[in-house]
Amino acid sequence: MPLFSPRRYQAPFMPVQRDSLPVQVFTAFEQAIKGALFGCRMCGNCILQETAFVCPMTCPKGLRNGLCGGATPDHCEVDPSRPCTWYVIYERSERMGRLDKLLEINAPVDGNRVGHETWLDMIKLWFKRKAGPYPWDFVFNRAKFNREWEEFFYALRQPDWWQGDSQYHPPAYTEPISLLEANLRSGVFTVTAEIAPPLDASPEGLIKKVNMLKPYVTAANFTDNASATCRMNSLASSKLCLDAGLEPVMQLQARDRTRVVIQSDAVGASGLGIRNILCLTGDHHRFGPAPMAMPDQFDMDGVQILWMLRRMRDEGKYIDGREMKIRPKFFLGAAASPFGAPPKYEAIRAEKKINAGAQFIQTQPVFDYNRFTEWLEALDKRNLLNKVYILAGIVPLRSAKAAHFMKDVPGVVLTESDLKRMDSAGDKEAQAEMGVTIALEMIERLKNTPGIHGLHIMAVHWESIVPRLVEEAGLPRPVVRELPRPEVAREQEKEAVPAS
Ligand code: SF4
Repeated sequence: MPLFSPRRYQAPFMPVQRDSLPVQVFTAFEQAIKGALFGCRMCGNCILQETAFVCPMTCPKGLRNGLCGGATPDHCEVDPSRPCTWYVIYERSERMGRLDKLLEINAPVDGNRVGHETWLDMIKLWFKRKAGPYPWDFVFNRAKFNREWEEFFYALRQPDWWQGDSQYHPPAYTEPISLLEANLRSGVFTVTAEIAPPLDASPEGLIKKVNMLKPYVTAANFTDNASATCRMNSLASSKLCLDAGLEPVMQLQARDRTRVVIQSDAVGASGLGIRNILCLTGDHHRFGPAPMAMPDQFDMDGVQILWMLRRMRDEGKYIDGREMKIRPKFFLGAAASPFGAPPKYEAIRAEKKINAGAQFIQTQPVFDYNRFTEWLEALDKRNLLNKVYILAGIVPLRSAKAAHFMKDVPGVVLTESDLKRMDSAGDKEAQAEMGVTIALEMIERLKNTPGIHGLHIMAVHWESIVPRLVEEAGLPRPVVRELPRPEVAREQEKEAVPAS
């Protein structure tokens, strides 16, 4: 059992290329010590300084930028037999007064470093930099020592091709990139809805749903093999939607994709005219119906995707530094889980996503309004509400059975009173009516909540209920249906409404 970390279950990584024998011996020595102390998996890209000395690579998704939406205080969502690594990191960081350290956006692992020692690298870098920290400063000039310590470890953990930080980076463009962005900027309460991508190759059903929703919503989300369950992919579904006359929000998740494929899919989407991209980490393969894929399917996480795509858009560079002649156009979004971890932890995670590049957030479904406002207050305390558009999640419950299923979804909190109302509603029709009533009550409260800019309605396999919800709740229709020509847009830009 490591001294400072939960027990390490996975084996340490092995290098791609073998080192010389003396280096191998040194690596084994380092591994023995760091394994015993920190549960280190020898990823060769050490960020223990930032994670309260708990190895983040013990997270089954290998997340390096905070917890996933399914984390609970009791256990990891992937392996219920052990605690969530990131919960331990947050709790230890809080005890040590280092919570803000978790804001720095950590790089994905450099595969060339995996399985190698880091102590020799540290010594080499210290000699190369000739800029401290020096032991005598620890005694005679503590401020200088601390500053140089921070600079030294930043140089060690942040490779040149990443250079992550904990700053907010506003988008480097002025005119709205998509209709979703234009409507949000206009200040109108904006509605998006989720359409389940087809289970087969036929586009007719999808196009029918798009035509049905078009008058009511600004954009439609297409999930990206959610719950590790294969469907038509998000890119193809988004293109079909766009061609049918409604703007899509393409969900792009890290699971199953390397950094190369993520960039290529995003550039391809931009080339096809798809502008809204929702960046996600994705559900673990364990939750899917297929025979489970190899573990370690996460090359990146949602935060890293945001950081990478924002820089592609604003700096015109691939992660490897190659320049793009024409920059892609992305309006970037993220998901948020107001009910997962305590709001103070979730707010740090949200801040990280916003700093990385998230311009809009779509939340998990809201059933518990009080807990939702606690999360909003935590965001407000971190001064985030004027930096991002928030679309609160709404799931109309179709039956009591669906309510009980929803109650067990990680990151969703269904109140006891809503469950009771669904259970005692009567037959199927009455249950569906009760689901609509509950949704309309919540929409009414959210509509009047400061800091909320719209709704994201997730009526999966019940998309036909969306028009009724929009009409009965008196929700406004999209006001901007066409992007202005560039010269007009520049004029309008000057009068744009800020995020809150
Ligand atoms: S709950 Fe999520 S973040 Fe926590 S250890 Fe498990 S996979 Fe990682």
